[in-house]
Amino acid sequence: MATPMSAGRFLDRLRAEGTTVVEVGDWENHNRNQVGPWGPVNGVMIHHTATRGSAQTVELCRKGYEGLPGPLCHGVITKDGRVHLVGYGRANHAGLGDDDVLRAVIAEKALPTDNESNTDGNRHFYGFECENLGDGKDPWPERQLDAIARVSAAICRHHGWSERSVIGHLEWQPGKVDPRGFSMASMRERIRERLK
Ligand SMILES: [Zn+2]
Repeated sequence: MATPMSAGRFLDRLRAEGTTVVEVGDWENHNRNQVGPWGPVNGVMIHHTATRGSAQTVELCRKGYEGLPGPLCHGVITKDGRVHLVGYGRANHAGLGDDDVLRAVIAEKALPTDNESNTDGNRHFYGFECENLGDGKDPWPERQLDAIARVSAAICRHHGWSERSVIGHLEWQPGKVDPRGFSMASMRERIRERLK
């Protein structure tokens, strides 16, 4: 269990891990805290956007869309490896997922299959949306994968978590396929290396 970092500390931690951060609008105060809790935080969740075009992708994740108001994550990682901060606090990215998975993340144990949608993920996870079509063909540039590892490691380092606290949306919520195009096992290995 952990208290979410302040927005300022979050920014400092990302920069200290060597990421290129872009602050978008009033990101520090843009959140969904009025509709539900934020924290305790237990992990980091990685997504793909299924969109093309960095500017449109960042704007979509900041504003959201009809039926799903933004922010849709905390940071958008574009193909150039930049991390665009669009919100901070509760964000609409994780939806309802599996309480068994949450327990495994908290215990940093191997993940069970996600077969239930009974737990509010937006309360418990930092979230990063990554610009990719998610068709299994759209490439993931090395600098983008590196940025995913860096933001994840930055958060894990702050909270004293291992790479096992970083999961993909597809490991949380039944029916989700993101991120697609790399494996979360390979990403966790990168994060583990960074945390050494
Ligand atoms: Zn997702």
